[in-house]
Amino acid sequence: QVPLKPGRSLMDWIRLTKSGKDLTGLKGRLIEVTEDELAKHNKKEDCWICIRGFVYNVTPYMEYHPGGEDELMKAAGTDGTDLFDQVHRWVNYESMLKECLVGRMAVKPIAVPKGLPFVLLHQFLFLLSRCEIVHFLLSFMELLNYIFFLLLYFLFYSYDWFQTDSLITVVIYTKQKDMNAELVIVDCQDKRLRGEIIMDDYSYLVEVDLDHTVSEEVAVNIAEKIGKVEIILKKKDNIHWKMLGQPWECHNTFIKRTNRELFYRKCKLVSKTEVTHDTKLFCLMLPKGTHLRVPTGQHVYLKQTITGTEAVKPYTPVLPFLPLDFQETSHHDGVHIYLMIKIYSCGLFTQALDHLQIGDYISVSNPEGNFKKSQVQASEDLILLAGGTGFTPMVKLLNFALTEVSCLRTVKLIFFNKTEDDILWRNQLEQLALKDERFEVQFVLSQPTKDWVGKQGKISSSLLSEFVKRSRKDSKVLICICGPTPFTEQGVQYLKDLGYSQEEIHAFTA
Ligand code: FAD
Ligand code: NAP
Repeated sequence: QVPLKPGRSLMDWIRLTKSGKDLTGLKGRLIEVTEDELAKHNKKEDCWICIRGFVYNVTPYMEYHPGGEDELMKAAGTDGTDLFDQVHRWVNYESMLKECLVGRMAVKPIAVPKGLPFVLLHQFLFLLSRCEIVHFLLSFMELLNYIFFLLLYFLFYSYDWFQTDSLITVVIYTKQKDMNAELVIVDCQDKRLRGEIIMDDYSYLVEVDLDHTVSEEVAVNIAEKIGKVEIILKKKDNIHWKMLGQPWECHNTFIKRTNRELFYRKCKLVSKTEVTHDTKLFCLMLPKGTHLRVPTGQHVYLKQTITGTEAVKPYTPVLPFLPLDFQETSHHDGVHIYLMIKIYSCGLFTQALDHLQIGDYISVSNPEGNFKKSQVQASEDLILLAGGTGFTPMVKLLNFALTEVSCLRTVKLIFFNKTEDDILWRNQLEQLALKDERFEVQFVLSQPTKDWVGKQGKISSSLLSEFVKRSRKDSKVLICICGPTPFTEQGVQYLKDLGYSQEEIHAFTA
């Protein structure tokens, strides 16, 4: 993110798009754009970009783009679909840029079918067409990776279904040995059944419009050792089904997770409680037909329509509280999602969230994120550096580390805030430090009052060298960092300057 000039917020952009101003320069006309024509519009003052076959004049949007003009210019005059999907595939550009629409691409870009065999074929043709050695080697490694997953898919992934008088059971065979509830996402609403299995960076999907109606509740059984997943649906009427249902376009596909469209379900706001003067804990209830567990270190996207424009922002689920008694399991009930959200006085999305009433609904996506629990499982010292709401990924991480990772000897949280009033869950953190001798918390304030006797300052090399230490000379350490982007970027740099390797650092980002 880059700082935007005053008057260039998302709300200002929405206002401009509603002002009736001609933002394309074409007076509302839509045209067919050839590749040659698109390529001509490659300057800041005249910049067209193609996204998913539609061409937009993004010049008026430049100053409003949270990622900055230079980021947008990378796709100037070209097909920017891949670039946008890599960076912000969750942003609904169709909605955000609808007033900038110039028209469609005249020659439809050749869409690469998403199934693995087609990806392979595409990759192979790409290799043939570009015989540069570096490209070749890099692509070759990726090719091997694809082949590996392709084999897994053909050898192992399949689904089947059967029925009794009252039940329909869909069985997915994955042969994945470490199958667990976090890797299975099921949604069954209004006759549509969607079951997704996550396998590293890939996802297998069963998605059909069911033949007949079923009741709201869905049961999911996972045989962890053999990787069998059963989705059990209750028939509304005890009739014999001739088929499971009509397949959706992506039914029975095994593709990269980043190529799957984000799926949203509507969740009910059941409570909203104050954490600090500006931060609240939102409790959302999943629909009865949804089975979803957000893994440690991952985030979800919330989606709401704000004055006619669809807005999406990421948030990292937390626990309802920091469990002191590690036997406690109720917070893993699988029904609720807890989000700790700071309400910014001029924040577009958080202001709208704050106006939600108990009982209102909001769309919540599937989880995303590249944090892997195995990084913690291999460590002896875990150090968490959090700035403000950058504390949120640390909540589940702390709980996981102290509950499930027996090789961890020390867990340290260094929590940066502006003032004492901004510290999230201070009491709970202090309680936890008293309860568990492996855990230590250090609060650092950048704008303390004169009464503050604790540490003060901003993230810096000297501050980190004081707090970030291995418990033994050669102990395996993992340092996780999350906060405002400059805080995270500077923190990572200071850690590297102090001699920590890339593998020892995990930065939470979008
Ligand atoms: P905007 O309308 O975008 O901005 C309005 C004003 O608010 C800005 O001018 C600025 O003064 C302030 N502001 C907005 N965003 C930021 C920011 N990111 N840093 C500093 N100041 C800002 N937030 C949470 O509260 N809880 C979470 O669990 C959480 N998880 C996240 C996970 C990820 C992966 C990422 C990338 C971000 C996360 N965020 C979280 C931030 C969240 O996505 C939004 O950026 C934030 O809620 C502000 O949205 P807004 O539309 O209200 O503010
Ligand atoms: P904040 O209260 O503004 O700041 C928290 C601490 O960070 C303060 O001590 C602050 O000091 C410091 N800080 C802020 N900007 C800094 C900078 N440029 N350089 C060094 N230190 C800086 O933070 P917040 O409003 O809660 O924002 C939290 C951030 O975390 C948001 O940007 C959010 O997007 C991000 N977040 C990311 C994820 C994720 O990626 N997974 C998850 C949750 C939150 P001073 O301002 O006094 O300098």
